[in-house]
Amino acid sequence: MDGIINVLPDSIANQIAAGEVVQRPASVVKELLENAIDAGSSKIKLIIKDAGKSLIQVIDNGCGMSEMDARLCFERHATSKIKEVKDIFNIHTKGFRGEALASIAAVAHVELQTKRREKELGTKIQIEGSRFITNEATACTDGTNFCVKNLFYNTPARRNFLKSNGVETKHIVEEFQRVALAHPDIRFEFIHNEQEVFILPSANRKKRVLDVLGKKMEKSLINVEIETSVVKIRGFIADPKTAVKSRGDQYFFVNDRYIKSPFFHHAISKGYDQLLPPGTYPKYFLFFELDPHTVDINIHPTKTEIKFQYEKEIYAILVSAVKETLGKNNMVPSIDFENPEPIDMGLGITPESLKQPTITINPNYNPFQSRKPASSGNYSYGKSSVLKGESWETLQQIQKEFDQGDVVNQEADIHRQEEMKQEDALSKSEKENPEIAPVYQSIQIANSYIITSMKSGMIVIDQNKAHQRILFERFQSAYSEQSIQVQKLMFPEAVEVPTELHQLLEDQLENIRALGLELDKFGKNEFVVNGVPSGVPQLHYQKLVDEILEELNHGENLKGNFIQEKLATIFARNTALKKGTYLNTAEIQNLIDELFSCATPNFAPNGKPTFITFTTEDLFKKFN
Ligand code: ADP
Ligand code: MG
Repeated sequence: MDGIINVLPDSIANQIAAGEVVQRPASVVKELLENAIDAGSSKIKLIIKDAGKSLIQVIDNGCGMSEMDARLCFERHATSKIKEVKDIFNIHTKGFRGEALASIAAVAHVELQTKRREKELGTKIQIEGSRFITNEATACTDGTNFCVKNLFYNTPARRNFLKSNGVETKHIVEEFQRVALAHPDIRFEFIHNEQEVFILPSANRKKRVLDVLGKKMEKSLINVEIETSVVKIRGFIADPKTAVKSRGDQYFFVNDRYIKSPFFHHAISKGYDQLLPPGTYPKYFLFFELDPHTVDINIHPTKTEIKFQYEKEIYAILVSAVKETLGKNNMVPSIDFENPEPIDMGLGITPESLKQPTITINPNYNPFQSRKPASSGNYSYGKSSVLKGESWETLQQIQKEFDQGDVVNQEADIHRQEEMKQEDALSKSEKENPEIAPVYQSIQIANSYIITSMKSGMIVIDQNKAHQRILFERFQSAYSEQSIQVQKLMFPEAVEVPTELHQLLEDQLENIRALGLELDKFGKNEFVVNGVPSGVPQLHYQKLVDEILEELNHGENLKGNFIQEKLATIFARNTALKKGTYLNTAEIQNLIDELFSCATPNFAPNGKPTFITFTTEDLFKKFN
């Protein structure tokens, strides 16, 4: 009786095991959908509420379970899919570990109704935290109906660990899309908070890809089909012109199971070779069929990473399959990356119905005219552009103040000290003779940089970065004072938002509107821009929204001020003066004045310098 080892009761063991299988609502969605597929269903319906936090329901018309199986399925290692060790190497089903339902039932309220076709009555089981509550005969339809409620109700630490509804919904939609893409013959429905997200009728592979990811891809999909002794590869790769800056829409399926494989991704990119602009990812949907004996899907609990016996061979096959496919489709000759063809938005808008640029233009708009002085603001812009000498005094004053706060890097500090020494030496006579007012000249180089002299040298300003800084601070202060003015668009402009990101974007609409972009949900699946911050010329709405989405999607923990700052950065970047824009003298001066009345003139919002300085000493050294 002196032993200290206990065998854990099943309920606790299951709860621990659940940590591996059930990480978030999307994991439950994946397991239930896969079970429905393994049951041979031809119709599967997914219903969720509150990003799956309060309800995940999967209804199928598959084989159903007998009364005995309905009870057994919640036991750990209860599976109908393998019987002997050798079966593990010949898997044709999604599941086989027999862990999923035991794990889910350990951390949620589960209700199961299931009936085999040949039976008159079905079975209803309720189970909470592994405890059976009900087990009775019931009248129900053929197939299985799983309800998972209040996920993680008994593991608050896990519940608190869940992300916002937007993020959790994104994961669910992604899982759903992967399963739906792998099984085009099955009809799927997906309802979230009583609204349809997807209705996907049974279809061929191509139609399914288009139904899931949008018709706009239709013209850019290129058929891939190759059969070798180790693998059969079918599916589609997309025209390199549709390659995108962020990852997404890269799909590999092995025997209809979605997998992740950086190794094969590399092979695809290599196949595209020089055709991809740097830093972009091609889209692809590739289905591998191979002998289950040559893959090991057992290495990862959620089975998205698998081992291949003929990995190197498949890599080589992929590279040449992609190359050949692109070659056959004449994708290889020079492609103009500078001017990619505009992509069809796929929103049911025909070219004829498209309206010309839809901004209502304010003829008096001047991008350099500030609506209000920056926060530090004792400086008057209107005046300062006339009083050139004085504005430079102002600049130097600001510079000094700024440098005293240790915001600037050391190198700049050293420059500054040297500058001041020089200044002292050079301007003795000036100071003694106040009549001689210095005149500072500014010129624009290559329509991109502004060079201007200062007392003790010169400054080179990057006009785009400088303008980003100015606009960034302007957006920020207007945001905090809620004084952004919105210019309504005469014709609202539709923008495309991938389904998995709808909720993420919806959650941020308030913040986005506060920055002056009136973005609204329109109908079930569309977002439209109804208004823009006034005085913002040439805004490319889709690009702006894409960048916002990228931030929402990949920046974690976006809250309050932080999201506002990110959005202001994106807005500034999208609306700033471009390189190559000619500026006249007054505009140049305005830009300089506004830059140096910013709270942080030295850096663009992305942290890059807005200007660099050369002291007379630097110049002297260059010549000696
Ligand atoms: P696995 O899928 O690895 O076998 P699960 O815990 O997911 O393990 O499921 C356990 C068993 O319950 C399955 O093997 C299957 O026999 C049965 N089952 C689960 N879901 C369904 C369903 N929707 N229809 C019919 N049988 C099901
Ligand atoms: Mg399963």
